Amino acid sequence: MPATRFDPYRRARLFDGPTPIQRLHRLEAALEPVLRGARLFVKRDDLGGIGGGGSKLRKLEFLLGDAMMQGAEVLVGVGPLQSNSARLAAAAAARLGLACELGLWPLEGQAGEALVSGNVLLGRLFGARVQVLPDASAAPGFIAAAAQGRKSYQLPPGASSPLSALGYADCALEIADQEHALGLRFDRVVIANGSSASQAGLIAGFALLGRRRLVQGFSVLADAPVAEANTLALARACHALLRGEGEITAADIRVDDAWRGPGYGRTTAESLDALHLLARHEGLLLDPVYSAKAFAGLLAHLRDVARPRNENLLFVMTGGTPALFGYQSALGT
Ligand SMILES: *Cc1c(COP(=O)(O)O)cnc(C)c1O
Repeated sequence: MPATRFDPYRRARLFDGPTPIQRLHRLEAALEPVLRGARLFVKRDDLGGIGGGGSKLRKLEFLLGDAMMQGAEVLVGVGPLQSNSARLAAAAAARLGLACELGLWPLEGQAGEALVSGNVLLGRLFGARVQVLPDASAAPGFIAAAAQGRKSYQLPPGASSPLSALGYADCALEIADQEHALGLRFDRVVIANGSSASQAGLIAGFALLGRRRLVQGFSVLADAPVAEANTLALARACHALLRGEGEITAADIRVDDAWRGPGYGRTTAESLDALHLLARHEGLLLDPVYSAKAFAGLLAHLRDVARPRNENLLFVMTGGTPALFGYQSALGT
């Protein structure tokens, strides 16, 4: 039983799974000219138990389990200002009765409302102490000073580590269970790749089931070779934690960086089109930093005439919607 392989790891319950899988009928109708029998589904990891939901909750379940086991009193995290990871760490800390210290820096060009709204606002509402840092170089100093004599647990950047990847390995098993209920098999599972542990976890989880090369990542941060190397290292380490058979190799990792655009957090015409398309046809929200770019990649895949017919495609909706409020002018509303 693959599921028992998770037993050695402590887990803090932060949401009630499984998250729903829904078919996008209206979007399929709109894309009919290019569809060629493809069926489009979304896994609603944007819904979630606490903090406004999002994929980071699955990763935090294992990190926070570890933190609780170590008797941590304060969570310490650093990252970009509109970090979903920081917002959900703050919510998880509130749920578990821990203090939370966040050091966050603005991205180039972020000013005004973007400095105080969205994820920053929510992090503060959850009781975290948020210090705005001038830039990433101030992070080590912030971390050194944050504990103030308390037992601290430092979150990895983007909440990505082999341990947190277990959250998405478990998600792969959840998807396989849902396939049985739906009476189909997915030919491709698509997800945004930032700090890589989510895609890596999915790869490690599907490997437990003997399914390889199923997961397609779209990088929103690193160049493809770097993102692939990170994803491979995390997938292997996660696979080792699960005592999986065989080896995960570079051939199992697929990351495309063609839809990232000028950089992390910078919008592209294609990602904004994808965001509007899903909002207007399905009433679903992508986020401008991650999932809108990955969905742009999925739409490009659909337009690829070399693609097989009748594919079942699953897009993992990863959340991040609070960041929308920092992009009002880009969204043209
Ligand atoms: C963090 C994040 C991702 C990417 O997950 P990684 O494990 O960092 O690659 C995707 N979507 C959203 C909304 C996120 O917050």
